[in-house]
Amino acid sequence: MVVKGILIIADGLGGRPTDIAGETCLEAAATPNLDRLAERGAIGLVDPIGPGIRPGSDTAHLSLLGYDPYEVYTGRGVFECLGVGLDVQEGDVCFRANFASVEEVDGKLRVTDRRAGRIETGQEELEAALSEIELTDIAGVKAYFRASTEHRGALLLRGEGLSPRISETDPHEAGVPISRSVPLDPGDPAAERTATAVNELTRKSYEVLKDLEVNRRRIAAGNLPANVVLLRGSSQLPHLEPLSSIYGVRGAVIAGGALYRGIALACGMEVIRVEGATGGLDTDLSGKAAAALSALERFDYVFVHVKGPDNAGHDGDAHAKRAFIERVDRELIGPLVGPVEEGRIHLAFTGDHTTPPEFGDHTDEPVPVLFAGRNVIPDQARRFGERAAGGGGLGRFSGRVLPILLGYCDWGPKFGS
Ligand SMILES: [Zn+2]
Repeated sequence: MVVKGILIIADGLGGRPTDIAGETCLEAAATPNLDRLAERGAIGLVDPIGPGIRPGSDTAHLSLLGYDPYEVYTGRGVFECLGVGLDVQEGDVCFRANFASVEEVDGKLRVTDRRAGRIETGQEELEAALSEIELTDIAGVKAYFRASTEHRGALLLRGEGLSPRISETDPHEAGVPISRSVPLDPGDPAAERTATAVNELTRKSYEVLKDLEVNRRRIAAGNLPANVVLLRGSSQLPHLEPLSSIYGVRGAVIAGGALYRGIALACGMEVIRVEGATGGLDTDLSGKAAAALSALERFDYVFVHVKGPDNAGHDGDAHAKRAFIERVDRELIGPLVGPVEEGRIHLAFTGDHTTPPEFGDHTDEPVPVLFAGRNVIPDQARRFGERAAGGGGLGRFSGRVLPILLGYCDWGPKFGS
């Protein structure tokens, strides 16, 4: 009997007892569906990469999907480019891009806001203007830009002899000039060429964006203009053995955030677009659940990503994080309980790291993880949360949640004879 798999990663799921009155956001949340599955299945703690390692979202996802990020990770930009739908080829240098606000002071571009006031509309116009840029300082280099959500986007440079070994242009603070990109290894000609192209692109992005209609409107309305592009996360295609060739099955991803679609694409999954999947707290969770179940008619497993807990954690809003986890339980987990109990799917649920609202960033504590389905031996757990997971039957392990899920589905390759 074929039982298909669903992996759900709730970004930044893990918490600390300082979150809400001595409990983590997950523990304080009412999660009857996760509790029911914890009772039917088995739980434990997972260190997304390893004990004591503070994960980024990109490296944590690679590890949870079964790769060694220390071996394969090249940087974030390439995943952002793949995720927004750019065709990334061998030799391309990829960046994550931000629309930012700058003012010209003594011929220098000084950053007034790194996120252009978290711009919400007009990105198509900005993208179209950036697409017109022609780079001339280095012959034969072409830039491709795509906007994604809010101030975010991705950019890739294509041409002979480029290198990702350059510094970024994002100064990571307001009130200072944009950083000039320079080679990380002085005298490296490929890095020299790439840094020159990046600096030209940055200058020209200001020239083509500053007087655009969308920015005139923003300034007239008292908003900051999106008048420059900041670049970071310089990287090239990583060499990942596709999951389809490791396990011999086909997987798909459902994610609002470009980064997560990009990682899954790089690992050999296909993308399923869901209307209303925003990568934010307002995302359509019922739509994701329905899309995941119907995708299993065509795919062997589906990876669903939700970003909300991490957003609320970064914003320092414990109550929003708890409320979003309750919505995940109701709208995303709820519709999957029946299919799990009927033995039609195996479900894995976890987070990619801990994001305590009080700290406002990722920390290295392990994250609770749950497996449920007909091949999972139940443990003694009666509810899902950090404390319960510490006493769960799965103990504490590192990464590899997708390989474990695919193992329950009988697709794990044998090591040795
Ligand atoms: Zn994350």
